[in-house]
Amino acid sequence: MHLLEVKNLSVRYPVRTPLFHKQRYLKAVNDVSFTLDRGEIIGLVGESGCGKSTLGKALVRLEDPCDGEILLHGKDLAHAKGAVLRDLRKHFQMIFQDPYGSLNPRLSIFTTLDEVISLHEKTPLEARRKKAAELLTSVGLTPEALDRYPHQFSGGQRQRIGIARALASDPDFIVADEPVSALDVSVQASIVNLLQDIRQKSGTAFLFIAHDLAVVEHISSRIMVMYLGNIVESAPANELVNSPRHPYTEALLSAVPTAGEGLKKRIMLTGDVPSPLNPPAGCPFHERCPYASTRCRVEKPQLVPDKDGSRSCACFFPR
Ligand code: SF4
Repeated sequence: MHLLEVKNLSVRYPVRTPLFHKQRYLKAVNDVSFTLDRGEIIGLVGESGCGKSTLGKALVRLEDPCDGEILLHGKDLAHAKGAVLRDLRKHFQMIFQDPYGSLNPRLSIFTTLDEVISLHEKTPLEARRKKAAELLTSVGLTPEALDRYPHQFSGGQRQRIGIARALASDPDFIVADEPVSALDVSVQASIVNLLQDIRQKSGTAFLFIAHDLAVVEHISSRIMVMYLGNIVESAPANELVNSPRHPYTEALLSAVPTAGEGLKKRIMLTGDVPSPLNPPAGCPFHERCPYASTRCRVEKPQLVPDKDGSRSCACFFPR
């Protein structure tokens, strides 16, 4: 059984419409399916506003899906409510992009961690302090940090505290939403390495969301590429990077600088990302795709697995 099984998941938001007009919806995530296993890191990439964060939030039930299933250890997470959802929550956590905004400046680091620890463990204060100290040590900070406040730490240290908080319930999986995007380049690698260490030591699985393919390639075993709320390609990380099949993946990769190969031909995408309020008919990428044909304008390609099922691509004319 997979740790997490996502089947045909969709999220949409109602949009304000004038009185007596038909209700309109913004389709943020469309019919997404994938599995996540224990100790696996899946990277999710795509441009800003493509639905990556919405998908991540739906997995930890910060957004409610409108269709589809999320099975956690085979249990229905997508429709869980009340005590059942509270019980399931200890199995998953989220790390946010902004290490400045995601910690309450008025709470000491111990109180920040204890909010999660005490929710899941009914143990005396001393035992909870001991656990909080261990959590800080596990993310490379010292227990002295327990009685300090967020403003006393650098951006990288605050992100480590955010990671310690996410680990406080011993989760099975973590959604890391652009966890290094707001950090200095010099700090990014240390946070990525920390997440890999956590995966190795505890078997925690991650959905690692980023717009930077170079970072995602480094940490993930599999990468999913999202465009306008749809997964358009999914493949083992090295295969996707070395031989992209979807034209959008190809364009994203052409923008990643590489060392030692000379200059790559940059594929410049024309036009803007269409509005998810009014997605184009046919292939969602056809208005920007250099290979679009008549068929692409009228028919939507499905995410089709290849012969051995290891990778899939939603394109009529894969590269
Ligand atoms: Fe481009 Fe057509 Fe493939 Fe869509 S289906 S990515 S428009 S070639």
